[in-house]
Amino acid sequence: MQWRKHSAELADQCEAGDADVQVQFGKKEEGHRQALRTLRSLEDRCNRILRNMEASLTARDRVGIQDFVLLDPYTSESAFLDNLRKRFHENLIYTYIGTLLVSVNPYKDLGIYSKKQMDTYMGVNFFELPPHIYALADNVFRTMLSEFNNHFILISGESGSGKTEASKKILQFYAVSCPSTRLLNNVGDRLLLSNPVLEAFGNAKTLKNDNSSRFGKYMDIQFDYRGEAVGGHILSYLLEKSRVVHQNHGERNFHIFYQLVEGGEEDLLRWLGLERNCKNYRYLVQGDCAKVSSINDKGDWKTVRKALSVIDFSESDTEHLFAIIASVLHLGNLKFEADARGYATVKNYQELHWVSKLLGISNQVLQQGLTHRKIEAKTEEVLSPFSVEHAVYARDALAKAIYGRTFNWLVNKINESLANQDSSRKMVIGLLDIYGFEVFSVNSFEQFCINYCNEKLQQLFIQLTLKSEQEEYELEGIEDEECLRPGEATDLTFLEKMEEKIGGHPHFVTHKLADKNTRKTLERGDFRLLHYAGEVTYCVVGFLDKNNDLLYRSGKEVMQHSKNAIIKHCFPSSEPDSKKRPETVVTQFKSSLVGLTEILMSKEPWYVRCIKPNEAKQPAKFDDVLVRHQIKYLGLMEHLRVRRAGFAYRRRYEIFLQRYKALCPDTWPNWKGTPEEGVRCLIKHLGYKTDEYKFGRTKIFIRHPRTLFATEDAFQV
Ligand code: ATP
Ligand code: MG
Repeated sequence: MQWRKHSAELADQCEAGDADVQVQFGKKEEGHRQALRTLRSLEDRCNRILRNMEASLTARDRVGIQDFVLLDPYTSESAFLDNLRKRFHENLIYTYIGTLLVSVNPYKDLGIYSKKQMDTYMGVNFFELPPHIYALADNVFRTMLSEFNNHFILISGESGSGKTEASKKILQFYAVSCPSTRLLNNVGDRLLLSNPVLEAFGNAKTLKNDNSSRFGKYMDIQFDYRGEAVGGHILSYLLEKSRVVHQNHGERNFHIFYQLVEGGEEDLLRWLGLERNCKNYRYLVQGDCAKVSSINDKGDWKTVRKALSVIDFSESDTEHLFAIIASVLHLGNLKFEADARGYATVKNYQELHWVSKLLGISNQVLQQGLTHRKIEAKTEEVLSPFSVEHAVYARDALAKAIYGRTFNWLVNKINESLANQDSSRKMVIGLLDIYGFEVFSVNSFEQFCINYCNEKLQQLFIQLTLKSEQEEYELEGIEDEECLRPGEATDLTFLEKMEEKIGGHPHFVTHKLADKNTRKTLERGDFRLLHYAGEVTYCVVGFLDKNNDLLYRSGKEVMQHSKNAIIKHCFPSSEPDSKKRPETVVTQFKSSLVGLTEILMSKEPWYVRCIKPNEAKQPAKFDDVLVRHQIKYLGLMEHLRVRRAGFAYRRRYEIFLQRYKALCPDTWPNWKGTPEEGVRCLIKHLGYKTDEYKFGRTKIFIRHPRTLFATEDAFQV
């Protein structure tokens, strides 16, 4: 290969003492040696790329192709599927489409995430080694350092496809592998340990995933100019609070409840008034699966305990936190009965007593707050008693509010611990891991919000990859007839359709609107949406209620009496009262997603697309139909086509020149002309064919990664 010959020649000339070459690399002897070392190391790297290519070509029949873009026959969906399957059965779960990483959940420990593996991938170029999540993490990191800009990694896929695991691997890579001074060392630890805590409070077993994220998480990892992780910040999105008081069959409440009951120390449980038996708590047994073989609640409790101490939770913080968790369990056991007039009274005072003790609220105030609501009459407030049904509703609403607000407090507290003290300029890598698209036999408001969020992110992906491709060509003045325009099929959102009075929309069906055939499968209270990832029938029962998320004012006021520091903080007395209509859940969620989109749009995107190989959560099972469906809706074929048809690689002239100028004697060590002229000179010297590249206004566009194989891969230092 030409570049190899070129570097070898230069090395020979240097060694032979060629005066001109010595001048090129600096006259001093040290400069000479340095140049030699660089060339030798480049040669080693080139050899590694060659070995990796050769190995993957030799093993191609057995292990498939590691980058869909690089090799030719892989254009059909079936071939794409074959390749993924082949690799999956060889335990090769990662495959590239250019720089996009496709990951198939292996449902088993592959032993590929060791420190040794991290070291192998650290600082090594993308195509030098087989695809890996570490290669992507490393590539993002080095691009950030060389270009001094911000990036984000969007991890998507349906529930159980491996998003959270992928995000943890990336975080581990940064926390363990990036340079660090002793002083700042524990930022990495804190970043890592925030995970088990947030998972304990925000994840739960569902039918789809034993560790399903029930909140959306966007995490910024901040780096200084040396690449040292110096801080972090987490944004959380819409926790599925309804799970606190209700779980469907086969599902659990949030992990932390079971961890506390199973793993909590004897003294602690006694202090909290809890028994070591999940079956005793109504909020823990509705799904009828408190024990799950894949989950070690006892062990996880220990991890969470330790993590809390590392991320700066004081003894008093943790005491208050556990008191809240226990109080929710006691609240759940609280029963009401009707008095002679049909009004609710507390039936089991023992439970009321525990809630009152743990939250530091007097028995009497608590009892009144749970059985009455305040109504404003003309000149005064009057107490109106609840019926039993009403009291149960108010109790559950209070439990949800307590848990939801405590979760937000937890995120803020973690953010304080991750906050960077130094005000100098930071670069950021954002990691987005949200709840994946999900369809159950009965889908409610929660699925509606989760799937809406996934629609939004898919829309963003399309906008950033497929659409931006076209826009960037136009902006740069490049005409490319082969460039694809994205289809419109996925560009939907439920709310926009609602706004437009969506009745006539073909992707929206209700019982009333349906034709005869469809009507049979739709109940009266159902509506059906055709999402980008498939059809979902939603049961509208409970929608309004969950969307309003009503918490009676009396409940709020009772909490304001609390002596528990966290509760006090979560229910401030300055909170606007109920006279002002609060925003609905959907309105809040929608605007927080708009905010998220803005955060993402200001950064350079990278993608991990996760695929779930089977519904049984089992290793070595590759369900063709299921995977094919995901290939389709994740837009992988379109992405591949764009990558192949378009110019796979583009770089600003300055950056391109800076990086590769050593390859050409005319541009090394300093180019005197404009960067564009320098790049022209460089390209000419490298012998690029004219149809392989185009010059834009500010960037060079290169059609095929193969062209760059020689240049980009070998010469990133
Ligand atoms: P959700 O949308 O429900 O949160 P998710 O996409 O985040 O789903 P994960 O929790 O990351 O899914 O993965 C589900 C399970 O699959 C993990 O608990 C783990 O058992 C297994 N798994 C995922 N990725 C890997 C991997 N790379 N190696 C081994 N096991 C994995
Ligand atoms: Mg998850």
